[in-house]
Amino acid sequence: MRIVSGGLQHETNTFSVSPTQLEDFVRDSHFGEGLGDSGSIRERFHETNTVHGGYLKGADELGIELVPVLNLRAYPSGIVTRETYETLVSELVARVQAALPADGILLDLHGAMVTEDYEDAEAEIVRRVRESVGADLPIVVTLDLHANISPQLPGYADVIIGYDTYPHVDMGDRGYEAIVLMSRIVQGDVKPAMAYRQLPLLTMPPMQCTLREPMVDLIAALHQLESREGMLTATVAMGFPFADIECMGVTVLAVADGDQQLAEAAVDEFSRLLWGQKEELQPRLVTIESAIEQSKEAGGLVIFADGSDNPGGGAPCDGTVALQALIKEGLEGAVVATLCDPEAVDAAWDAGEGGQVQLSLGGKVDELHGETLEVDAFVERLSDGEFVFGGPMAQGLKDSLGKTALLVINGVRVVVTSLRRQCIDRNMLRTVGVELDSISLLVLKSAVHFRADFGSHAARILDADTPGVHRPDFSCFEYNNSRADRCYPLKLDARL
Ligand SMILES: [Zn+2]
Repeated sequence: MRIVSGGLQHETNTFSVSPTQLEDFVRDSHFGEGLGDSGSIRERFHETNTVHGGYLKGADELGIELVPVLNLRAYPSGIVTRETYETLVSELVARVQAALPADGILLDLHGAMVTEDYEDAEAEIVRRVRESVGADLPIVVTLDLHANISPQLPGYADVIIGYDTYPHVDMGDRGYEAIVLMSRIVQGDVKPAMAYRQLPLLTMPPMQCTLREPMVDLIAALHQLESREGMLTATVAMGFPFADIECMGVTVLAVADGDQQLAEAAVDEFSRLLWGQKEELQPRLVTIESAIEQSKEAGGLVIFADGSDNPGGGAPCDGTVALQALIKEGLEGAVVATLCDPEAVDAAWDAGEGGQVQLSLGGKVDELHGETLEVDAFVERLSDGEFVFGGPMAQGLKDSLGKTALLVINGVRVVVTSLRRQCIDRNMLRTVGVELDSISLLVLKSAVHFRADFGSHAARILDADTPGVHRPDFSCFEYNNSRADRCYPLKLDARL
């Protein structure tokens, strides 16, 4: 059996002022100057907890010849430019074509990419791949839990499988599930029938977390449902709310073996269950002033999850609201990680370790994330920022913060990086020698993913009340091109 795999991933925050370009995909995909090839994709993803890592594992176990042709991602940011999208999708389709004949196509997509031309950019990717390979070849798509899935997408794919976890610790498992199911389809063991339903429901990252209620119970119910006789898989995509597009929000999918009615019934049943939890799915936010007070009495690490400035959702990661309050308080034991400011890093490198430097720090990308701070900083440590994920999420994958500096400002330590990276792994802090046991209050520019590696070390985790393009508060965003105002909670009397 010969299976071709490809991937293009981007989570697009349409409220971000930074468009996404080809060079962003090239830099963040780590294939050097180029777009990578089968060999470099294998090398990068083999034995990693990623979707392609799961494909490769399954292919080895099942004796499938897997031909990965392209797998690129850019860090979440603003709208993907037309030129970037056309270049990448043309390349993907051409490489898939060149790898034929094959028995099936696996596509490793995100589900929340928005371009200048396409609100559901994945539906267009799958449409073009489908057009190029014909109607008969099975296509199995994997999507992130944050996918915004339009009604068009299920029409081009035989099966859609979404992540069941947030933090996304099951990427490898879902890739593995996809290739196992693909092999059953190719062998004629099963014939997928997929049902799709979008709910009039919007949710925000903090409460989409599958380590917290109500998601713990909901995912357990989803697993119970997909293990029933005749069911192949089921997915709840919680949606990415920072996108002003029509198909933004929660979607439920179910795939049954040759039985469309069974799939439809499963979708209806799970949708009702989810709808019943809609009030519990809305977050409660805490100010930095309250977090400072709580850190003095918590008797352990307090994490202030500053998701409003989460680069993993397209925010600039240079917000200063929490940092400013910490500096004012002079809270020793406080750490902010990470803050992206390449200029400040360069100045720190010029000063050298042990040096003192005057800086304009953060708040430079836009007007939404606090003001630029004029500070006097001690340069405690410098690093090239290279690291390997050691926590459960993306374990084994290499990445980089770019040149990095650990600064100390009035007792507060700040990890300042050259690249925007969501701080979700303790190895990121270790690039500058910071360990959790030295911290009382940790401000992380992350909504939820940090919980995979930091959560069990925290005495308390607080969802931050700070401003930003990733703030978990619907009242802060103006939706003009979206069904948002017809959905709960913007429309309190919305009906399922
Ligand atoms: Zn996600």
